[in-house]
Amino acid sequence: MTHVLILGGTTEARALAGQLASCDGELKVTSSLAGRVAQPRLPAGGVRVGGFGGVPGLTAWLREHRVDALVDATHPFAATMSEHAARAATAADVPLLALRRPPWRPGPGDDWHEADSFDQLAALLPELERRVFLTTGRGELRPFRDAAPRHWYLIRSVDAPDPADCPPHHQLHLARGPFALDDERALLATRHIDVLVTKNSGGAATAPKLLAARELSLPVLLLRRPATPPGVPEVTDVDAALRWLRPLSEPR
Ligand code: NAP
Repeated sequence: MTHVLILGGTTEARALAGQLASCDGELKVTSSLAGRVAQPRLPAGGVRVGGFGGVPGLTAWLREHRVDALVDATHPFAATMSEHAARAATAADVPLLALRRPPWRPGPGDDWHEADSFDQLAALLPELERRVFLTTGRGELRPFRDAAPRHWYLIRSVDAPDPADCPPHHQLHLARGPFALDDERALLATRHIDVLVTKNSGGAATAPKLLAARELSLPVLLLRRPATPPGVPEVTDVDAALRWLRPLSEPR
């Protein structure tokens, strides 16, 4: 039985698990979720939840559960997990593939300001307008609270943030993508948003906010992606990941 472990928490990870779970034959798939979201969308196949306990924990897990292939399909900004995956795969001698959706690219009419940290992005805000649509995730609010506390924020996240992290003037908008362009347009218009802050996650599910911002000529502050660990083969879609897995899952 070939055992594939998918490090998940993304649409692509769920889609890959669904495809593998529906395969005929001797294939076992386990998806691993960090356990950050209160009610995650569960993938098909086996699921485990929670951290492994760093590189040693993941290495031990790969060995104990006789994993034949590891797919790091975590979010492009889950850099610690990706680094751990690379080191544990080497230690346990398990083939590793990174599945990463392509980043968004600016198009004509976009007014993007990119940086490598939230502190750098937040430092740009005092020069910009005052009503901010913040879609950075609930764990990334403090730089904005500290650098631009007089701005007003519409904070969108799946689960509610810690109130202590929030800037003084804000409204919470609890929602989970995908988001439609008409809804994003309406959100920007009704809240009188004049700047969007996000990370360059890529993918279709959350891209419409960028189109809506472009239509309104709003500035967009984007966090650049962290580098992927060197030497790890990378694909950008589920079909390519299935092609990479095929030789590993054939009877030996
Ligand atoms: P991270 O900073 O790279 O990882 C921190 C720690 O969380 C890891 O060292 C690991 O703990 C644990 N962890 C992360 N992903 C895990 C997984 N799939 N299975 C088991 N343990 C995991 O990760 P993060 O940015 O907080 O993201 C956490 C999860 O949310 C990821 O699975 C990611 O795909 C998903 N997600 C992240 C974002 C984002 O913007 N960062 C957006 C959407 C979804 P141990 O060291 O104990 O193993």
